[in-house]
Amino acid sequence: MGALFNQLTEKQHIEIVTRGPGETQALGRRIGEMMQGGELVLMVGDLGAGKTCMTQGIAWGLGVVEYARSPTFVLVSEYEGRHTLYHADLYRIDDPLEIEDLGLDETYGNGGICVVEWAEKGDWLFPEDNLRVDITVIGAEERVVELRAGGPRHEELLRRLGEGTSDGKGN
Ligand code: ADP
Ligand code: MG
Repeated sequence: MGALFNQLTEKQHIEIVTRGPGETQALGRRIGEMMQGGELVLMVGDLGAGKTCMTQGIAWGLGVVEYARSPTFVLVSEYEGRHTLYHADLYRIDDPLEIEDLGLDETYGNGGICVVEWAEKGDWLFPEDNLRVDITVIGAEERVVELRAGGPRHEELLRRLGEGTSDGKGN
């Protein structure tokens, strides 16, 4: 999947064009494979952009066997993998206090992985050291995926993603 990384720009910011859901899943899988626990992924993009699609890839990369697309009324779904994945969807939340009540800080704070869809609904509530993922629809099957690291933990992940290495442990 080297071609996906042709548009690599700088250390803390990578921009990738995916052509089809399979490529977005593959990107997510690469990221999931590199995660070391404690990562927070904030996803922003319109309905149908591919946030869940990419989360599915992250789940696979974490070795989650049964990834089910969660029903929209479930705010946080939990999956067991190499690290526990917590997948939050804020679509139906309007009050930022409700976001705080989800207690997501206890997920990434305790070594889990937290992926948040519609993160812009409460992004000021999250720590700065996060991996921000903006997905933009540019065609029926084409998406621009922008990855930004807000601090050292996620910069390291992006650096390894750009290098095409996996988890830094030779895997
Ligand atoms: P979101 O969670 O952002 O609302 P989903 O991941 O549920 O979006 O849905 C994305 C939809 O777009 C799926 O139907 C998927 O098949 C389609 N799609 C087409 N091209 C792509 C692409 N390059 N990346 C991700 N999804 C894509
Ligand atoms: Mg979704």
